[in-house]
Order: sequence, then C-alpha cells, then structure tokens
Amino acid sequence: MAPNTLLQYFEWYLPADAGLWKRAAADAAHLQQAGFTGVWLPPAYKGAQGINDVGYGVYDLYDLGEFDQKESIPTKYGTKDEYLAAIRALQRAGLQVLADIVLNHRMGADACEQVDAESFDPGDRRRENGPEGLISAWTKFTFPGRNGQYSSFQWNHTHFDGVDWDERAKRKGVFQLEGKGWENEVDDEHGNYDYLMGADLDMDNPEVLAELDRWGEWYLAQTDVDGFRLDAVKHIRFTFFTHWLEHLRQKSGKKLWAVGEYWSPDLSDLTHYLDSCGQTMCLFDVPLHFNLMRASSSNGNFDMRRIFDNTLVDARPERAVTFVDNHDTQPGQALQSWVQGWFKPLAYALILLRQGGTPCVFYGDYYGIPHDGINAVGPQLDILLRLRRDVALGEQTDYLDNYNIIGWTRAGEGEKPGSGCAVILSDGPGGQKEMCLGVRFAGQTLVDLLGNCPGSVQLDETGSASFPVNGGSVSVWGMTPV
Ligand code: CA
Ligand code: CA
Repeated sequence: MAPNTLLQYFEWYLPADAGLWKRAAADAAHLQQAGFTGVWLPPAYKGAQGINDVGYGVYDLYDLGEFDQKESIPTKYGTKDEYLAAIRALQRAGLQVLADIVLNHRMGADACEQVDAESFDPGDRRRENGPEGLISAWTKFTFPGRNGQYSSFQWNHTHFDGVDWDERAKRKGVFQLEGKGWENEVDDEHGNYDYLMGADLDMDNPEVLAELDRWGEWYLAQTDVDGFRLDAVKHIRFTFFTHWLEHLRQKSGKKLWAVGEYWSPDLSDLTHYLDSCGQTMCLFDVPLHFNLMRASSSNGNFDMRRIFDNTLVDARPERAVTFVDNHDTQPGQALQSWVQGWFKPLAYALILLRQGGTPCVFYGDYYGIPHDGINAVGPQLDILLRLRRDVALGEQTDYLDNYNIIGWTRAGEGEKPGSGCAVILSDGPGGQKEMCLGVRFAGQTLVDLLGNCPGSVQLDETGSASFPVNGGSVSVWGMTPV
C-alpha cells in the first residue's frame, strides 16, 4: 500500500556519530503521532568513506555496519543491530519503512586491475576521444574484512561498464572497459547518461543480474523493510527495476511500494520512464520541486496559477511523490536548488493539503540543518501535518486563478468531525478570495488554523465566503478544534 505521508529521515550534513538509527528508534512514536505514515531511511551499507560516507558511495552491500571495513564497523548511522532495531521500532509504531537502494555504481575497490579501455568525451558519451589503451582501474572488490560471510561473490572488471579514474596515469576521464557498451535505454543527458560515477555496474552481465537478485532477497530477509527508495534510476537500464522489483515481490509476497529518483525537471522524461518500467514504481516530482524553488526566489513575480504546470502530480497523481527539498538540493550539495525559507509553509501546504501525490517531508525542514544555520520550518509544519491527517480531507475544488493568490477547498468527510477547510496562499501582496466549501458548511464560523490571520470568517447560506491571506503567507480556514 502506498504510504500517506513520508518523512525523509536524514540530511547530508548529519554528524558522523553512528547515532541516527538509535535516534530513529527513539523517535518512532512521536513520528507516528506527528502524522507520518512512512519513513525513508538513508543507505544502510558500508560506503567507501566508511563512517563519513552518507551512503551513496557504496562499497559493500552486505555490510550493514557489521564488519571492520573502511576503518569502521558502524556506518555513519550506526551498526547493523541498531539498524534492525530502528526498523522494528518504526514498524511497531505503525510506520512503513523504506530502504534506500543504490545499485548503479560501486566505490572504494580493494585492488586495481589492468584492463583495456576506451576514453569517452565526458560531455557526449557517444563520442570516443582517445585511442584504446591499458588503464589501471579500481574494479576488484574482494571484501577481505567480511571474509565471505553472507556471500562469496567478488566483483571484477567484467562486472562493470566503466570507471572515471586511471590509477596508472593518475588521469580522470570517462573510461569504457574493453568489450563493454553503454546501456541504450538510459537518460540522454550528455548523449548517454549510463555512467554516473565510480565503477558502473554492467546490467547486461547475467552474473550481475543474478547477484543483485540474490542480494535483494538477502537484504529483505535480514531487514523486512516495507518498500524502497531507488537511487539514480535514470543511469540504469529502464527495465532493470521492473525485473528486480517484481522478482522480490514474487519471492516475498510483499507489495514493496517503491519510489525512484529520476532527477530531471522535464515531465516527459518522468512519464517516459514510468511507461518504460511498466509503472512498477512511483517517481519523485522533480518538476514540482523546481516550480516551488522558482516561486520562492521570484519575490512575488511567479505566476501562482502555473505552480502545478508540467508537474508529475498534475499528470500522474497516483505515481507522484511530491517533495519540497532533499539531501541533494540542500545548500552545498550537487543539485543545490533550495526552496527559500519564507516560502516553505506555502510549499508544504501545496504538497500536504491537496488530494494528489504522496508527500515526502525533508528532515532538514523538519529538524533544521545546523551545519548551515538553517532552522526547522517549525510549528507551522507540525500544524500542516495534523491538518493533512484530520482536516484537509474530501473533495477538492481549485481556485488556481490569480497571479498571486491561489486557493482550494476541501469538502471534508462526513464521519470526520471538524474536517473540511479553505486553503489560501499568496507569493505576493495579501488579499482575499471568494471560495465555497459547500452547503454543509452554511453559516459556520471559520478561523485560520495556522494562526497567521486573526479574526474569523462567517460562511453564507451556500457555504461561501471571502477568505483573507497575508502577503507571502498561507492561511487554512477551518473549524475551531474542540
Ligand atoms: Ca549506469
Ligand atoms: Ca505572483
């Protein structure tokens, strides 16, 4: 089953104190009470940077903080036992747990191999830009610290398509290994974006496919997670996860809901991927993130009528995971495109209080980012989460009809007392908007449940009223909680 409200439970600059799993376990009951129904945990396996690795520089998928490898037993987030305990605690609190799955590349090989390779133009990976020759590639993974436990599989150059470093010449590049070709069915940025970083897995090699299936079964048996966040799907053959997920779903009998990271602002890239993978997963709504970012940095000169233009939540609401920011878009990171602080309550109202999409709240917004002096969004976000659960329910009527001030109403659900509301927000000056909640609300008196606008609004005999909003702000008009 798709989760209702997700929390991404990490940001890039968490301290490398091996403490996140313990904190997640202790936080479980609070997260459930706050309104979350699912938690996305960061990659749990040993990365090349050991305890300092955020998790995307995967070294050993079988080391969940259990073996002395890369100068540490725990990962950045803790030990394997603590990871499993956190999953159990979150699940006991009624939360679904999503594991972050990174299969595109490996880092931190144990040894080099001498292998013939061709050099490709980093800007256009369809073009060779040098003669073939011997390079020294970091492609031999033997995992001496694990010593064959759980799996005796060892990786060598035949399992990879390419690397970006020749150790012999101390030279950076995009090197395709002898006898290999880039995957055809991948994103076409840079001509062909199969190669991202590290040692790129060859998803045409049957040994690789079999090993990733075996690992998936092992991982699920160890952790019993409920679903996945799939990393870098645009760099992996578009049909790979169709097979990988369906295989695991069949083996386990679990639904294994999944969301993929396809980082593109172009809606057609996302719908093409969804169609290519047979709708086997949802995708993050990257175009919506960019609309929110632009609106937040336009000083009111964003046309709010167009905030959902060319977004996945508009085109395929049942396949969209909406988000405001994440560990890649935060300041200092590779895809930095941070939504400005003043706009965060508006952005979260736009993903939390509407019908379409599965919203995912960012840890850095919920808890703040001390590394950059960024505060948590604060009480407004807590209120919005409660409003999503208890108030913003039922039929939705849109008033996305003004350059600055837009709104929508939710008609409520009969069996949920106090449900139903009118949401109004402005990226420019304050003002008001006439909206209707329906005759069920005739004569009711509503207040701003976010507390941004004082006073109350009286609905007429049709359940309509003119609702006010302050400049650069959001108000949610509903019934006073009893
Ligand atoms: Ca790849
Ligand atoms: Ca505007």
